[in-house]
Amino acid sequence: MPDPAEASAGRYAQVIVDIASSDTDRVFTYRVPQGMALLPGTRVSVPFGKRTLEGIVLSFGDDPGMPEERVKDILRPLEDYPAVLPPLVDLAREIARDTRTPLAMALRLMFPAEMRRGRVKIRTRATARLRTGEHGIQETLDAALAASARAPKRRLLLRLLEDGLSHPVEELRALARDPLAALKALEEEGFVTLAEEEVFRSPYPDAGPVDRDPALTADQREVLSEIVPAIRSGGGRFLLHGITGSGKTEVYIRAARECLSRAQGVIVLIPEIVLTPQMVSWFKGRFGDVAAVLHSRLSAGERYDEWRRIRSGHARIVIGARSAVFAPVSNLGLIVVDEEHEASYQAENAPRYDAREAAASRASREGAALILASATPSVLTFAKARRGDLMLLEMRHRAQSQPLAHVTVVDMREELRLGNRGMFSTLLHERLAECLDRGQQAMLFLNRRGYAPSVMCRKCGAVMKCPQCDVNLTWHQADRMMHCHYCGLRGGLPQECPTCGSSYIKPVGVGTQKVEEEFRRLHPDVGVVRLDMDTTSGKDAHQILLDRFRSGEARVMVGTQMIAKGHDFPQVTLVAAVLADMSLHLPDYRSEERTFQLLTQLAGRAGRADMPGEVVIQTYAPEHFAIQAAAKQDYRAFFETEFSRRRDKLYPPFTMMVRLLCEHALEDTARGVSSALYGRLKDWLAQRPALKKRVIFFREDASPIKRIMGLWRTQVLLKLLEHPESGEVLDFLKQLSEETWPCRVSLEINPASLA
Ligand code: ADP
Ligand code: ZN
Ligand code: ZN
Repeated sequence: MPDPAEASAGRYAQVIVDIASSDTDRVFTYRVPQGMALLPGTRVSVPFGKRTLEGIVLSFGDDPGMPEERVKDILRPLEDYPAVLPPLVDLAREIARDTRTPLAMALRLMFPAEMRRGRVKIRTRATARLRTGEHGIQETLDAALAASARAPKRRLLLRLLEDGLSHPVEELRALARDPLAALKALEEEGFVTLAEEEVFRSPYPDAGPVDRDPALTADQREVLSEIVPAIRSGGGRFLLHGITGSGKTEVYIRAARECLSRAQGVIVLIPEIVLTPQMVSWFKGRFGDVAAVLHSRLSAGERYDEWRRIRSGHARIVIGARSAVFAPVSNLGLIVVDEEHEASYQAENAPRYDAREAAASRASREGAALILASATPSVLTFAKARRGDLMLLEMRHRAQSQPLAHVTVVDMREELRLGNRGMFSTLLHERLAECLDRGQQAMLFLNRRGYAPSVMCRKCGAVMKCPQCDVNLTWHQADRMMHCHYCGLRGGLPQECPTCGSSYIKPVGVGTQKVEEEFRRLHPDVGVVRLDMDTTSGKDAHQILLDRFRSGEARVMVGTQMIAKGHDFPQVTLVAAVLADMSLHLPDYRSEERTFQLLTQLAGRAGRADMPGEVVIQTYAPEHFAIQAAAKQDYRAFFETEFSRRRDKLYPPFTMMVRLLCEHALEDTARGVSSALYGRLKDWLAQRPALKKRVIFFREDASPIKRIMGLWRTQVLLKLLEHPESGEVLDFLKQLSEETWPCRVSLEINPASLA
């Protein structure tokens, strides 16, 4: 790194001001006064009109770009280090450009909100230590003892300090009464240094490493033989495709250890900390306080302290959710993205960055290795590995050689034919009873993330699809119509099934509550817990319910997809997907992918210990390729079919979905803005026939969820070919969204949800 004093002094700095409150970028030139040493990313105080504002230095130059006398001086740096590490300033620029959001918003991701306007106090405590003499500690100690011959308290204090480390005065007070006067005297005589040291509020109690390394499996050794040399040579991008239970965590731990031995830092991203407490405890067990944890449930003070522990280099390993990809780790050696297929890696609010892409960009910028890992990689990531952008590493065996669970697919159409109208098939009834008889535990799983039901023929299992978009239609109770959330097509319930002619066509959708009720009716004396959005909203509710299950007080757990991953319950030998089709029917082109992932991850939950696991998948579409592939746990088969479907139907990675979302308390206002946006886009495209060819369709409509928290939502939705020229369309849309409109307009590129 260049000497900052040399790099910045006497030059001009581009400073972005007031990033907390402005939604557009305000970048101005200031002079760096002689003697002030700055790096890009340093927060500074600058004069602005009659006010003083906070800003962040972006870059330096020799030309002020305006008359010299109008340039003002930077007043002072707010910290003596860059709050945003210089490579993260560049990453923020890239995110701003790619997501078409202001740089100010991207920079806000890079340091804790608490730092702005000095809202969090640093906690300190008084400490004392022996001053190191020219010939070391012993010299000071001898001289101090000689000078304290007739002062027993001073001699006691010197003995307590003789290790040369710094001791909190509070601690000394417990051993020697009223030590302060004696310490002050020792300080005045030059033997002791008194100081105020920062105290870090730790969300996890101090702990040294306690756990030992297990011997590696053959699979682990093999993948590490690729990863470790890559770390040593400063790069490497990997997709680690390892079945559930193959021991991927141990690979991360060993790779992290390699980085530590080279004084490099590590970032491990996990989808949701609260759902994966294991990862944190394993890393803490192996690395102690060298590992820091960042997540949304920390208090502001804790988050700020963890952040500073990382920034100062005290913590070299960071475990955290999505935004931890921006953790202030210097000399980065490795970024791991665990369960990389999870939708939570995509930010829901602007800037809508994708943590996997940010990780890839950061890794290559800083010469770090990248590992994206999953048992069920996302289609986009696997496609990249096939193209050679990532090196594919595979782990095909379980670490403790447990057998994979036995999977049975049950055809629910057949159940109806045999007169069973309940939600549990005969097979599931039997398996549940057997499992409970053996004294073991079961999980009943329902994917209810859909907010609205699909429309299905209960006789043949056919689901009503949009003829134009190949996504499932969604039933809207409000207007009693089927809607396509992609193109806006709507229609009434068909009288008969277009496939088999039957009249059993109905909106379908079951809730976890119904499953719980049904189970209680069948087994009134068996304890059951239900885990879903409704039962886990309290602060500790999640943990309490999990504990009831872990302790065995509850024998059955009913839940949404949040139970599908992360946990190790050794007593669970039966796992059932009560209605696998529910995720298949989501009005989203990723519904096949989500279904495959959920079912495969679910199967990985059963029988992790020495007992074999049993998985029951209930479905009206037993022949569907996603369900078939999940039943066989055959990722490749799933990928090949899904990839060619994406190509045929023009979905990502071949195209992108883009929308301008308009939100306002008055429906007419939102509607007026989206109509105006649509009109502008139409005119603009009409003059650019070559670009228009890149646009597969565009339309203006109400958003699938018409109103959220009192705001009406309308949208202009586009599907664009993935092509360099499409960038021009995005640029125009960004420009449009930034004009002054009577309501909020946000641009979303491939949003995680089109709700
Ligand atoms: P994955 O993340 O690939 O699904 P985990 O990392 O959760 O797998 O590991 C699965 C289980 O295997 C864990 O209980 C872990 O402790 C165990 N395990 C991992 N590596 C080893 C090893 N080398 N020797 C023994 N047990 C291991
Ligand atoms: Zn459609
Ligand atoms: Zn039918």
